[in-house]
Amino acid sequence: MKILVLNSGSSSLKYQLFDMMNEEVMAKGLVERIGLEGSILTHRPANKEKQEIHADITDHSVAIKLVLDALTNQEHGVIADMKEIDAVGHRAVHGGSTFAQSTLIDDKVIEQMEKLVDLAPLHNPPGLLGIEACKRIMPDIPQVAVFDTSFHQTMPESSFIYGLPYEMYTKYEIRRYGFHGTSHRFVSERAAALMNKPISELKIITCHLGNGSSITAVDKGKVVDTSLGFTPLEGLIMGTRCGDIDPAIVPYIMEKENMDVKQINDFLNKKCGMLGVSGVSSDLRNIEEAAGEGNHRAQLTLDIFYKRIVKYIGSYAAEMNGVDVIVFTAGIGENSIPMREAVCANLTFLGVEFESSANNFRGEEKEITKPGSKVKVFVIPTNEELMIARDTKELVK
Ligand code: ADP
Repeated sequence: MKILVLNSGSSSLKYQLFDMMNEEVMAKGLVERIGLEGSILTHRPANKEKQEIHADITDHSVAIKLVLDALTNQEHGVIADMKEIDAVGHRAVHGGSTFAQSTLIDDKVIEQMEKLVDLAPLHNPPGLLGIEACKRIMPDIPQVAVFDTSFHQTMPESSFIYGLPYEMYTKYEIRRYGFHGTSHRFVSERAAALMNKPISELKIITCHLGNGSSITAVDKGKVVDTSLGFTPLEGLIMGTRCGDIDPAIVPYIMEKENMDVKQINDFLNKKCGMLGVSGVSSDLRNIEEAAGEGNHRAQLTLDIFYKRIVKYIGSYAAEMNGVDVIVFTAGIGENSIPMREAVCANLTFLGVEFESSANNFRGEEKEITKPGSKVKVFVIPTNEELMIARDTKELVK
């Protein structure tokens, strides 16, 4: 079975074609600057040279057609005909309370997804564009939506209701949803496999640390709490997002800086976090480098980032009344050696026996605790695309 996985952004489209016989990636690529000048498709077939295609890519339909052309191209392609694709799996950001599981897409599902745009105005519309385009171009090929929020739908009410009047939930569906669910699910399942135990016997804390970051508590395979909330703004400090702040700061800044609702939303999402505190960059590599050169604000950013991670791990261990495994994943989790060292140094009280000599690597699956450590810590590269392909396979089988 061959499955095409699509991740549509507002002006970009990432894709991977999987052969599910061996879960191998046959080709992957990225369309950038859709609807803008200078749009480009970079196609990377496995075992063949990469190909760059410059074209006028006016919308997601044109992008998907171009991707299908590249996949079936005589020279650079990996399949002979589009009909070889058995199903398409789409990454969808917000499934609200409607989608607790990955779902086979039909007109009713699209209608329900359209209703959710209000909850994720930035993220859901591009996903829908991708789905609509596939429906037009490959009407006979089944499509599946895999939501970033689904894994978190098992959270108890006590974790997802905020300290607001309950009517805010019933009237406007204001609650914690959580994000990065596909990644948290992938690495928690992988952690259970590495522990050689069924996930139903484990308390796991997964740290997905990238441009956007979140930490999730997974007890017996079910999410009991997660740090992102109603939107992907709560919790840790992120590349450009503020994370937890006193909500009273919001109207205070709006008044002082004369900002309207759109401006403050933009400010909290794009100007804060690591970028805002450091004044250097939103990219952790640049901040680590600046801190190394003695930049105080860069060092402060790292200290805040590490402390916040430790706080969440500590509180989730308390919430689950214990923890067996902690996982680091995503760009920072997989690659930042100093972050892993600094965070683990504060977790000895939990029973984490960090092994410094085992931590000197990037982007691999490895344990970074000593053999016999009461709480194990793993670095596990995430693979959301594979998770989407697996769910798609299950649903169309
Ligand atoms: P996204 O949320 O956009 O998918 P990623 O998971 O790719 O983001 O993570 C991006 C982050 O990972 C950036 O802050 C980047 O600096 C960080 N990162 C990538 N490689 C390294 C590295 N070698 N050392 C430290 N941080 C890294």
